[in-house]
Amino acid sequence: MSSSPLPPVSIETENATPLALHETGGLGGHPSGLTTLFFTEMWERFSYYGMRALLMLFMVKTAAEGGLGFDTKSAAAIYGTYTMSVYLLSILGGFIADNFIGARRAVLVGGIVIATGHFTMAFGSTLTFYTGLVLIAMGTGLLKPNISTMVGSLYRPTDERRDAGFSIFYMGINIGAFLSPLVTGYLAQSEGWKTQLTAWGLNPLNSWHWGFGAAGVGMTLGLVVYVLQRGRLAHVGSAPAPEADGRRPWGKLGLVALGSLALIAAMKASDTYPVLVYVLFALQIAAILFFAFRPDQDSKRMAAILVFFFAAEIFWAIFEQTGSSISLFADKLTHNVAFGQSFPSSWWQSVNSIWVILLAPIFAYLWIALGHKQPSSPMKFALGLLFVSLSFVLMVPAAKLTADGKVGPLWLVGLFFLQTVGEMLLSPVGLSTMTKLAPQRLVGLVMGIWFLAAALGNKLAGVLAGEFKSENATELANFFWHQALIVGGCTVVLLALVPWVKKLMGGVR
Ligand code: GLN
Repeated sequence: MSSSPLPPVSIETENATPLALHETGGLGGHPSGLTTLFFTEMWERFSYYGMRALLMLFMVKTAAEGGLGFDTKSAAAIYGTYTMSVYLLSILGGFIADNFIGARRAVLVGGIVIATGHFTMAFGSTLTFYTGLVLIAMGTGLLKPNISTMVGSLYRPTDERRDAGFSIFYMGINIGAFLSPLVTGYLAQSEGWKTQLTAWGLNPLNSWHWGFGAAGVGMTLGLVVYVLQRGRLAHVGSAPAPEADGRRPWGKLGLVALGSLALIAAMKASDTYPVLVYVLFALQIAAILFFAFRPDQDSKRMAAILVFFFAAEIFWAIFEQTGSSISLFADKLTHNVAFGQSFPSSWWQSVNSIWVILLAPIFAYLWIALGHKQPSSPMKFALGLLFVSLSFVLMVPAAKLTADGKVGPLWLVGLFFLQTVGEMLLSPVGLSTMTKLAPQRLVGLVMGIWFLAAALGNKLAGVLAGEFKSENATELANFFWHQALIVGGCTVVLLALVPWVKKLMGGVR
């Protein structure tokens, strides 16, 4: 792979590489590189969500069931720290790409580390388990932000197809996320597969490790696609030129690494000292104001990025309760019957992805059809917050009805529909906006900051879900109502800030 430096560019063409012209050879008239990134990320997410679907269960199952036999509390703590770290390490991954190896190589190395991590977990011991988790978190930190910036690099800054391109990319994410729990869940938990293992003379208790291995196979397939089709990406994600004296910023790398570890430690400490969460919010507001009132355009754009960051963090804090409070609502308070057939409560975890697959083409079409008349990014973000808030408003009557017993499945179908509309307005748009706002030399870092919002949101989701009460309908209704009100309030504030944020963005839509 070449590591040719980018030519000097003006603000207008800042993120465009020389070949990012109006190429249309890929999915839906998009650049052909999008197809490669679509399938690579589909398989990476297949591995991520396939493993995540087993993680909690594997930890709490007893040794006699093939699990690790952890208690729920320790398992939940490991789960929370792992999901947070996966996204938090994106900062480090973005920094490494920006300053050392470029996004293209970072995705390759990240994918190899992720696959190694999953394969490590295919072996049954506590050591291989933890080593696997660490490898996957580090590999994802390298891959996730950088594959996302490469999508952005396929388009010129003025290309109206960019948001649509991210919607398509997002669909790849969710095809992987939808399919994988079905595959890994079958291998890990089904009687059919255990019988097959016994017939082969293998230990059926190792079925979990077959599930983890399948996640590794998925990531390997992603790497095969990426390597075979690398020619389509030769013009994006190259390594930056070293400083004039040939040096690389090793010192700063050390600081970013230490900072990331400190943040992980601080977020873990917030379990004991909740005040740290407020300190974090205060720091974010201070950072927005600091950058907004500096004279240069890059700083103002950074302030805009931080406003998006704040909104995304609030969004994920509600949305990421799918695996916690909503999963409990699904399990304890919902009749899980469709078309006369009952189904396991864990299947609800795939419903968000099904909605994304159905809605992503509609949004991709909508953004293309509206062209320059589409709402601005801050307006889309405000609408995203509105929808996630409405999803919890919908749960208020559902919660009240639980006083009479379990409720029908349509409530959760509606919840996931509203949340997914919100997600389509915020998440792919956020990815796209980061690639537009970031100065070229910082694009990986800025994408890392974007995923930091997901990391903190995941953590907050855990804190909020801790208040879930399934026994008392009124308290449960209040649980949803209070969160809906807070996010509704944030929506109003963001709506009021839209003109200011647009100004901070300095011409970027
Ligand atoms: N579900 C999306 C993905 O896996 C978004 C995750 C996030 O940014 N929190 O990429």
